[in-house]
Amino acid sequence: VTGVLAWQGWVALAGYGPLRSIGAGQWQLAGPAVLLFVLVMVTVERQWPAQPRPLLAPGHRLDLFYLVLHGALVVPVIVLVGKGFATQLQHAAPWLVIPRVPQVPRAAFVIVALLGIDAVDWLAHLANHRLQMLWRLHALHHSQEELSILTAFRTHPLVHASYVISAVPVLVLAANAATPAVLLTTYACLGALPHANVRWTYGGVGRWVVSPAYHRLHHAPVGRLDVNMGTVFTVWDRLSGRAVFPVAAVVPSTGLAGRPIPVEQSDGGPGPALGWLVFRQLADPFLSEGSRA
Ligand SMILES: [Zn+2]
Ligand SMILES: [Zn+2]
Repeated sequence: VTGVLAWQGWVALAGYGPLRSIGAGQWQLAGPAVLLFVLVMVTVERQWPAQPRPLLAPGHRLDLFYLVLHGALVVPVIVLVGKGFATQLQHAAPWLVIPRVPQVPRAAFVIVALLGIDAVDWLAHLANHRLQMLWRLHALHHSQEELSILTAFRTHPLVHASYVISAVPVLVLAANAATPAVLLTTYACLGALPHANVRWTYGGVGRWVVSPAYHRLHHAPVGRLDVNMGTVFTVWDRLSGRAVFPVAAVVPSTGLAGRPIPVEQSDGGPGPALGWLVFRQLADPFLSEGSRA
């Protein structure tokens, strides 16, 4: 699916220049603003860590690699697959576009578009947990036992095809709102922030906005994983009875019980080579149960 949609995206962008679009996507989603934000959060994690650990802990080193992979490979995939799906959707369901309503301020539509994107991201995340095929790709993100801001970028390149449905609210509002690039960058940062290794609950605001303490519960190795699925807002979890609010004093551990995917944290002995581990983690969804040991 990723291959077909990416090819369709490439063809659709032929007039404008696919590489220019990819460059713009990299600037928005992995450019200087996002990198500066990550750097600031790494510094904050050093000062007020939820779980104290060395700067070069194995989990940080591997997730730094995933950050580089994100900028170099994953964002181009997101751009092409997103464009491919949006083009198909436009052809198949042009009636989705609601007409221009000049009386309503543009900013209102931008807010609705962001809420719409957050809602469908929530749905895609739920599908990632419900459908075995998608879970095998999403499990990599959950395998991190040393959660940090960098874990936001620890994703399988093929999982992003499940998030293309965010093109639906964008298309619905296309005649009324073009979401500004700066908002997409802000949304990317707000979606990454809940992975930070800090205790923040955001107090009262945390009832509505996903905080690091709230998202950490989603990464817990035991109990229900299909709670606290929100990206930026908690409203979808609350409406579906899946919101579990954190207790500030408790910092639960993270990762997957039984380590079904090989991880970088070792049990005392020398850890596996990171290069091999990355290959093994990315190949994991395609391995049969028998050959996964
Ligand atoms: Zn998840
Ligand atoms: Zn997460």
